[in-house]
Amino acid sequence: MENLAIFGGKPVRENKIFYGRQYIDQEDVDAVVETLTSPLITCGPKVEALEKKLCEITGAKYAVVVSNGTAALHLAAMAAGIQEGDEVIVSSITFAASSNCVLYCGGTPVFADINPETYNIDPASVRRLITPKTKAVVAVDFTGQAVELDEIRAICKEHNLILIEDAAHSIGTRYKGQPVGSIADMTTFSFHPVKTVTGGEGGAITTNDEALYRKLHLYRTHGITRDMSEMVNPSDAMWYNEQVCLGYNYRMTDFQAALLLSQLHKLPKFSERRKQIVKMYDEAFAEVPEIIVQKEIPESDTTRHLYIIRLNLELLRCDRRQFFDALYAENTCPQVHYLPVYMHSYYEKLGYKAGICPEAEAFYNSVMSIPLYYSLTDEDVQDVVRAVKKVAAYYRR
Ligand SMILES: *Cc1c(COP(=O)(O)O)cnc(C)c1O
Repeated sequence: MENLAIFGGKPVRENKIFYGRQYIDQEDVDAVVETLTSPLITCGPKVEALEKKLCEITGAKYAVVVSNGTAALHLAAMAAGIQEGDEVIVSSITFAASSNCVLYCGGTPVFADINPETYNIDPASVRRLITPKTKAVVAVDFTGQAVELDEIRAICKEHNLILIEDAAHSIGTRYKGQPVGSIADMTTFSFHPVKTVTGGEGGAITTNDEALYRKLHLYRTHGITRDMSEMVNPSDAMWYNEQVCLGYNYRMTDFQAALLLSQLHKLPKFSERRKQIVKMYDEAFAEVPEIIVQKEIPESDTTRHLYIIRLNLELLRCDRRQFFDALYAENTCPQVHYLPVYMHSYYEKLGYKAGICPEAEAFYNSVMSIPLYYSLTDEDVQDVVRAVKKVAAYYRR
C-alpha cells in the first residue's frame, strides 16, 4: 500500500489547495478601479445598484446592503425586535455569528439539533424547543442546501415567530424553484472571500416586508434618517437629518459594491461549476464506503458552498483528527465546519453544556470540508479524490 505523506510518502500533489478561495478576474478589477475615482465612494450609486441586483436575483422586494454578513444578522435580529428575555432558536452547526446576533440584542440563543443526513436544522427539534419566550428562528442553509423551508415556515406561522434565514452559504440556491432570499421574513447573505461571491467583505439582508426594510435601512446608518415621515421633529431644511433610534455604521463602500456587481454577473457560471464539482465528488465517493456524502433534499436546487465528507468511523482505524492530518499532508487541505456553536468556550461560560444536540456533536466528530471553489480544475478534483481514497484505504479496518 502507498505510504501516506504524513508518514514520509509522496503527497498526491506538490502544491497545497485549500477548501475555499475567491475568484477575481480583470472585469472585477476594472469595476473596482473605475469606482475608486467616482464622486461617491461609500453608500453611493453602486450600493443602490447592488441592492437592485440582489432583489432581481432573489426575487425579494427589498434589499439592504451592509458591511458584512455578521452585521446583516445583527440588523435582522434587531429588526425582529429581539431583546432581553427573548429566546431565539438557532442551528447548532453553523458559524458563531448566526447565534452571536441574538446575544448582541440581549436575547438567548437556544440550539436546535440537526438532521444527521442533510446536516440542516431539524424542524422537529425546532418544534420541541418552542416556549412562550420564543420570538424567532435563525435557520442556516448549511453548505448551501436550503433548509426545509415549508416545514419551518409552518412552525413559525403557527407560533408567531420571525424566520431569519442565514443564507451566507446559499446565494444562487432555489427552494421549490424559488430563489433563496424571497422566502423567509428576512434572509441574510455574506460576501466574505470564501463564499460563492465576494466583495472582500460584505453582507445584505433581503425581505418582502416594508416595515422590516425601513428598520434595517435606519439601523444601517446610526438610526439617522433624512425621511421626514420618520422624524419626530420633522423639518424640511436641506441640512436636517435626525437620529430617531440607536443604529450602527454598517455601510458598505461603493468599490466593494462594484466588485460584488461584477461578481454577481458570474454567479450563473460559479453555480454551474460548483454543481459539476459536487457531482464529480459524489460519483467518486459512491464507491468508498468509509465516506458518507451529504443527503440532498429534492426541494433544494443547491449552489454548494462547502463539500463535506463524513467519515464512517466504524469502518476506519482512525479518528477524524488522524484522517484530517493525513489529508492535509497530501496537500489537499481540508477544514472543519463547524464546532457546535454552544461548545465554544465563550458559550460554555454562558452556561451551555455539551450533550444538548447529540446529532450535531456526532457530526462534528466525523466531518471535514474538502476543496470546493470555482477555479478548481478537474485535475485538482481528481487529486482530492485520490487523496481521500488513499487515506481511506490506508486506515480501512
Ligand atoms: C460567513 C458566515 C457568516 C458571517 O459572515 P461575515 O461576512 O464573515 O460576517 C454568518 N453565517 C454563516 C453561516 C457564515 O458562513
